Amino acid sequence: MMRTKIVAGNWKMNKSLDDARSLATEVATLYAKEIKQDTIVILCVPFPFLNPLKELLANSSVQTGAQDCSAHEGGAYTGEVSAAMLKSVGIPYVIIGHSERRQYFKEDGALLAKKIDQALANGLLPIFCCGEPLVVRENGTHEQLVRRQVEEGIFHLTPAEMANLIIAYEPVWAIGTGKTATTDQAQEMHAVIRRQLAGKYGEDVAQATPILYGGSVKPDNAKELFSCPDVDGGLVGGASLKARDFIDIVKGAEG
Ligand code: PEP
Repeated sequence: MMRTKIVAGNWKMNKSLDDARSLATEVATLYAKEIKQDTIVILCVPFPFLNPLKELLANSSVQTGAQDCSAHEGGAYTGEVSAAMLKSVGIPYVIIGHSERRQYFKEDGALLAKKIDQALANGLLPIFCCGEPLVVRENGTHEQLVRRQVEEGIFHLTPAEMANLIIAYEPVWAIGTGKTATTDQAQEMHAVIRRQLAGKYGEDVAQATPILYGGSVKPDNAKELFSCPDVDGGLVGGASLKARDFIDIVKGAEG
Protein backbone atom coordinates (compact mmCIF):
# COMPACT_ATOMS: atom_id res chain seq x y z
CA MET A 1 0.00 0.00 0.00
CA MET A 2 1.18 3.53 -0.79
CA ARG A 3 1.24 5.62 2.34
CA THR A 4 1.73 9.39 2.03
CA LYS A 5 5.17 10.32 3.28
CA ILE A 6 5.36 12.70 6.24
CA VAL A 7 8.34 14.78 7.37
CA ALA A 8 7.95 16.60 10.67
CA GLY A 9 10.51 19.01 12.09
CA ASN A 10 10.88 19.18 15.85
CA TRP A 11 12.40 22.53 16.75
CA LYS A 12 12.49 21.60 20.46
CA MET A 13 13.22 24.61 22.75
CA ASN A 14 15.00 26.76 20.18
CA LYS A 15 14.60 30.14 18.45
CA SER A 16 13.07 33.55 19.21
CA LEU A 17 9.86 34.62 17.52
CA ASP A 18 11.79 36.62 14.91
CA ASP A 19 14.06 33.67 14.13
CA ALA A 20 11.06 31.35 14.05
CA ARG A 21 9.31 33.57 11.50
CA SER A 22 12.41 33.69 9.30
CA LEU A 23 12.95 29.94 9.43
CA ALA A 24 9.29 29.12 8.74
CA THR A 25 9.21 31.61 5.85
CA GLU A 26 12.33 30.08 4.35
CA VAL A 27 10.96 26.55 4.71
CA ALA A 28 7.65 27.56 3.09
CA THR A 29 9.42 29.33 0.21
CA LEU A 30 11.75 26.40 -0.54
CA TYR A 31 8.87 23.95 -0.15
CA ALA A 32 6.77 25.84 -2.72
CA LYS A 33 9.70 26.10 -5.14
CA GLU A 34 11.34 22.71 -4.86
CA ILE A 35 8.89 20.13 -3.53
CA LYS A 36 6.17 18.40 -5.53
CA GLN A 37 4.05 18.66 -2.40
CA ASP A 38 2.94 15.07 -2.25
CA THR A 39 4.74 14.89 1.09
CA ILE A 40 3.12 16.23 4.27
CA VAL A 41 5.49 18.66 5.96
CA ILE A 42 4.92 19.72 9.56
CA LEU A 43 6.80 22.18 11.76
CA CYS A 44 6.47 21.28 15.46
CA VAL A 45 7.38 24.48 17.26
CA PRO A 46 7.35 25.89 20.81
CA PHE A 47 3.92 26.99 22.10
CA PRO A 48 4.45 30.78 21.83
CA PHE A 49 5.23 30.46 18.11
CA LEU A 50 2.25 28.30 17.16
CA ASN A 51 -0.32 30.99 16.51
CA PRO A 52 2.00 33.44 14.71
CA LEU A 53 3.42 30.67 12.51
CA LYS A 54 -0.02 29.26 11.81
CA GLU A 55 -0.97 32.72 10.46
CA LEU A 56 2.30 33.14 8.60
CA LEU A 57 1.85 29.74 6.91
CA ALA A 58 -1.83 30.30 6.08
CA ASN A 59 -1.14 30.30 2.33
CA SER A 60 1.41 27.48 2.45
CA SER A 61 0.84 23.72 2.59
CA VAL A 62 3.43 23.53 5.38
CA GLN A 63 1.56 22.43 8.52
CA THR A 64 2.07 23.29 12.17
CA GLY A 65 2.31 21.05 15.21
CA ALA A 66 2.86 21.36 18.95
CA GLN A 67 5.52 19.39 20.81
CA ASP A 68 3.30 18.29 23.70
CA CYS A 69 -0.12 18.79 25.27
CA SER A 70 -1.63 18.30 28.70
CA ALA A 71 -3.16 15.02 29.86
CA HIS A 72 -5.90 17.12 31.47
CA GLU A 73 -8.91 18.63 29.82
CA GLY A 74 -8.63 22.05 31.41
CA GLY A 75 -8.79 23.97 34.69
CA ALA A 76 -6.36 24.44 37.56
CA TYR A 77 -3.16 23.07 36.02
CA THR A 78 -0.81 26.05 36.01
CA GLY A 79 1.63 26.03 33.13
CA GLU A 80 -0.18 23.37 31.12
CA VAL A 81 -1.50 23.75 27.57
CA SER A 82 -4.57 21.71 26.66
CA ALA A 83 -5.31 19.91 23.42
CA ALA A 84 -8.50 22.00 23.17
CA MET A 85 -6.40 25.20 23.23
CA LEU A 86 -4.21 23.90 20.42
CA LYS A 87 -7.28 23.01 18.42
CA SER A 88 -8.76 26.46 19.06
CA VAL A 89 -5.76 28.11 17.36
CA GLY A 90 -6.05 25.72 14.43
CA ILE A 91 -3.05 23.50 15.11
CA PRO A 92 -3.54 20.07 13.49
CA TYR A 93 -0.67 17.99 14.93
CA VAL A 94 0.91 17.32 18.32
CA ILE A 95 3.94 15.24 19.30
CA ILE A 96 3.20 12.99 22.29
CA GLY A 97 5.77 11.02 24.28
CA HIS A 98 9.00 12.35 22.80
CA SER A 99 11.93 10.61 24.50
CA GLU A 100 12.99 13.92 26.06
CA ARG A 101 9.56 14.15 27.74
CA ARG A 102 9.83 10.53 28.86
CA GLN A 103 13.36 10.98 30.19
CA TYR A 104 13.47 14.51 31.67
CA PHE A 105 9.82 14.89 32.66
CA LYS A 106 9.22 11.28 33.69
CA GLU A 107 6.26 10.82 31.36
CA ASP A 108 5.15 7.20 31.51
CA GLY A 109 2.84 5.02 29.47
CA ALA A 110 -0.28 5.75 31.55
CA LEU A 111 0.21 9.52 31.28
CA LEU A 112 0.93 9.35 27.56
CA ALA A 113 -2.21 7.29 26.98
CA LYS A 114 -4.19 10.16 28.57
CA LYS A 115 -2.42 12.74 26.41
CA ILE A 116 -3.22 10.71 23.31
CA ASP A 117 -6.88 10.61 24.41
CA GLN A 118 -6.94 14.37 24.93
CA ALA A 119 -5.39 14.98 21.53
CA LEU A 120 -7.82 12.67 19.71
CA ALA A 121 -10.87 13.87 21.65
CA ASN A 122 -10.07 17.39 20.50
CA GLY A 123 -9.52 16.49 16.87
CA LEU A 124 -5.72 16.71 16.85
CA LEU A 125 -3.49 14.23 15.04
CA PRO A 126 -0.96 12.85 17.55
CA ILE A 127 2.57 11.86 16.55
CA PHE A 128 3.24 9.17 19.17
CA CYS A 129 6.94 8.58 19.84
CA CYS A 130 8.55 5.37 21.01
CA GLY A 131 12.13 4.12 21.04
CA GLU A 132 14.75 2.48 23.22
CA PRO A 133 17.73 4.00 25.07
CA LEU A 134 21.27 2.78 24.34
CA VAL A 135 21.51 0.34 27.29
CA VAL A 136 18.35 -1.39 26.15
CA ARG A 137 19.65 -1.67 22.58
CA GLU A 138 22.91 -3.06 23.96
CA ASN A 139 21.24 -5.71 26.10
CA GLY A 140 19.09 -6.74 23.15
CA THR A 141 15.65 -6.08 24.66
CA HIS A 142 14.77 -3.13 22.42
CA GLU A 143 12.01 -4.98 20.67
CA GLN A 144 10.25 -5.84 23.95
CA LEU A 145 10.58 -2.28 25.27
CA VAL A 146 9.23 -0.63 22.14
CA ARG A 147 6.37 -3.12 21.96
CA ARG A 148 5.53 -2.26 25.56
CA GLN A 149 5.65 1.49 24.86
CA VAL A 150 3.26 1.00 21.94
CA GLU A 151 0.94 -1.19 24.00
CA GLU A 152 0.83 1.22 26.95
CA GLY A 153 0.48 4.37 24.87
CA ILE A 154 -2.02 3.48 22.18
CA PHE A 155 -3.51 -0.01 22.48
CA HIS A 156 -6.56 1.32 24.31
CA LEU A 157 -7.60 3.11 21.09
CA THR A 158 -10.36 1.91 18.81
CA PRO A 159 -9.52 1.00 15.19
CA ALA A 160 -11.35 4.18 14.10
CA GLU A 161 -9.14 6.30 16.38
CA MET A 162 -6.05 4.61 14.95
CA ALA A 163 -6.85 6.25 11.60
CA ASN A 164 -5.80 9.59 13.14
CA LEU A 165 -2.53 8.43 14.66
CA ILE A 166 1.05 8.74 13.45
CA ILE A 167 3.82 6.73 15.13
CA ALA A 168 7.46 7.81 15.29
CA TYR A 169 10.14 5.25 16.09
CA GLU A 170 13.08 7.14 17.56
CA PRO A 171 15.92 5.14 19.08
CA VAL A 172 17.15 7.39 21.90
CA TRP A 173 20.80 6.58 21.11
CA ALA A 174 20.31 8.15 17.67
CA ILE A 175 18.64 11.38 18.80
CA GLY A 176 20.94 14.39 18.57
CA THR A 177 23.99 12.12 18.60
CA GLY A 178 24.83 11.96 14.90
CA LYS A 179 24.50 8.15 15.19
CA THR A 180 21.73 7.22 12.79
CA ALA A 181 20.18 3.78 12.88
CA THR A 182 21.19 1.77 9.82
CA THR A 183 18.48 1.21 7.27
CA ASP A 184 18.35 -2.43 8.42
CA GLN A 185 17.92 -1.42 12.06
CA ALA A 186 15.21 1.11 11.17
CA GLN A 187 13.33 -1.23 8.83
CA GLU A 188 13.51 -4.09 11.33
CA MET A 189 11.92 -2.05 14.13
CA HIS A 190 9.33 -0.44 11.88
CA ALA A 191 8.30 -3.91 10.72
CA VAL A 192 8.09 -5.06 14.35
CA ILE A 193 5.75 -2.17 15.16
CA ARG A 194 3.64 -2.74 12.04
CA ARG A 195 3.31 -6.47 12.84
CA GLN A 196 2.29 -5.55 16.38
CA LEU A 197 -0.39 -3.20 15.01
CA ALA A 198 -1.59 -5.96 12.67
CA GLY A 199 -1.86 -8.39 15.59
CA LYS A 200 -4.01 -5.97 17.56
CA TYR A 201 -5.98 -4.10 14.89
CA GLY A 202 -5.70 -6.18 11.73
CA GLU A 203 -3.73 -5.76 8.55
CA ASP A 204 -5.71 -2.79 7.15
CA VAL A 205 -5.03 -0.56 10.16
CA ALA A 206 -1.39 -1.70 10.28
CA GLN A 207 -0.88 -0.89 6.61
CA ALA A 208 -2.59 2.49 6.90
CA THR A 209 -0.66 3.76 9.95
CA PRO A 210 2.30 6.01 9.13
CA ILE A 211 5.47 5.08 11.04
CA LEU A 212 8.17 7.77 10.92
CA TYR A 213 11.84 7.30 11.77
CA GLY A 214 13.63 9.80 14.01
CA GLY A 215 17.25 10.04 15.12
CA SER A 216 19.92 12.11 13.36
CA VAL A 217 18.12 12.21 10.02
CA LYS A 218 20.24 14.38 7.70
CA PRO A 219 20.10 15.33 4.01
CA ASP A 220 22.63 12.62 3.18
CA ASN A 221 20.86 9.71 4.88
CA ALA A 222 17.19 10.68 4.47
CA LYS A 223 16.55 9.12 1.08
CA GLU A 224 17.99 5.76 2.07
CA LEU A 225 16.03 5.64 5.33
CA PHE A 226 12.77 6.80 3.75
CA SER A 227 13.10 4.17 1.01
CA CYS A 228 12.68 1.32 3.53
CA PRO A 229 9.30 -0.30 2.94
CA ASP A 230 8.00 0.38 6.45
CA VAL A 231 9.54 3.84 6.95
CA ASP A 232 6.98 6.47 6.01
CA GLY A 233 9.07 9.58 6.54
CA GLY A 234 10.86 11.19 9.44
CA LEU A 235 10.76 13.20 12.64
CA VAL A 236 13.72 15.55 12.38
CA GLY A 237 15.30 17.46 15.28
CA GLY A 238 18.61 19.24 14.73
CA ALA A 239 18.46 19.35 10.94
CA SER A 240 15.00 20.98 11.01
CA LEU A 241 16.59 24.18 12.35
CA LYS A 242 18.17 24.87 8.96
CA ALA A 243 15.68 25.42 6.13
CA ARG A 244 18.07 24.16 3.42
CA ASP A 245 18.84 20.91 5.28
CA PHE A 246 15.23 20.34 6.24
CA ILE A 247 13.97 20.78 2.67
CA ASP A 248 16.72 18.50 1.37
CA ILE A 249 15.46 15.90 3.85
CA VAL A 250 11.91 16.43 2.56
CA LYS A 251 13.27 15.80 -0.95
CA GLY A 252 14.51 12.44 0.32
CA ALA A 253 10.86 11.50 0.92
CA GLU A 254 9.76 12.27 -2.62
CA GLY A 255 9.06 9.34 -4.89
C1 PEP B 1 14.06 14.38 17.62
O1 PEP B 1 14.21 15.21 18.48
O2 PEP B 1 12.92 13.89 17.47
C2 PEP B 1 15.19 13.97 16.80
C3 PEP B 1 15.06 12.93 16.02
O3 PEP B 1 16.34 14.72 16.90
P1 PEP B 1 17.64 14.67 15.93
O4 PEP B 1 17.12 14.66 14.52
O5 PEP B 1 18.41 15.91 16.25
O6 PEP B 1 18.37 13.40 16.26
